[in-house]
Amino acid sequence: MNDGATGAETRQKIVAGNWKMHTTVAEATALAGALTRDLGRIDSPQVVVCPPFISLAAVAEAVAGSSLAVGAQNLHWVEKGAYTGEISPPMLAGICQYVIVGHSERRQYFGETDETVNRKARAALDYALIPIVCVGESLSQRESGETGLWLDGQITAALNDLGPGDVSGLVIAYEPIWAIGTGRAATSAQANDTIGGIRRTVADLFGSEVAAGVPILYGGSVTAANSKEFLTQPEVDGALVGGASLKAVEFATIVRAAIS
Ligand code: PEP
Repeated sequence: MNDGATGAETRQKIVAGNWKMHTTVAEATALAGALTRDLGRIDSPQVVVCPPFISLAAVAEAVAGSSLAVGAQNLHWVEKGAYTGEISPPMLAGICQYVIVGHSERRQYFGETDETVNRKARAALDYALIPIVCVGESLSQRESGETGLWLDGQITAALNDLGPGDVSGLVIAYEPIWAIGTGRAATSAQANDTIGGIRRTVADLFGSEVAAGVPILYGGSVTAANSKEFLTQPEVDGALVGGASLKAVEFATIVRAAIS
């Protein structure tokens, strides 16, 4: 099997905040303003804030001229049409740079499947949006030793029909479902080993050079207190942060833990 675990020093570090269904437009604008003042000159890690759709434009304006990037939390794969309530790739292009795809909450509550995740990833790339493709196992899968095989399947399906050039333009987030919003983070060793496995899967599919360049983040109950431990692991290229990203000071501490 290919050892894709090289190139850590050249991969972009990313710390992304997933604000989920939190913040009004006014609150999102204020949070983005506070983060911009504090972190707006930091180039590495790349800081990404992902507010609700309705706040994307206001947040984009608040971070304009800073190093912060903006991401959406979801997208539809179709360009336009009769899909009430959906947001398409061209609507996002120009407002944000990143988009979270296949978050476990969307898979769990909104019926997203490996197939729709793949369609969304492809649609994002078509519009020069950087997908943050989320994968992760359940607690029972972890406990019964199925994690590697499960993630192998999720990655293979999510990246179906993509070429090496496409895969070089995306980000993967390893988010064990049992660690999201539970306060029960994975250990840093679990995160590092599992991300190493994901990188080997990417190497098997697209070659070791591509795999060595793909940023793979850890997500799941990352806090100011535990962030340094995760962010100093060689395979962990950053963090996707939920709850702690809503507190400006705590999120800033996590961002600073990723400065090498
Ligand atoms: C997330 O929403 O992607 C996440 C990791 O949430 P939390 O940090 O709250 O566990």
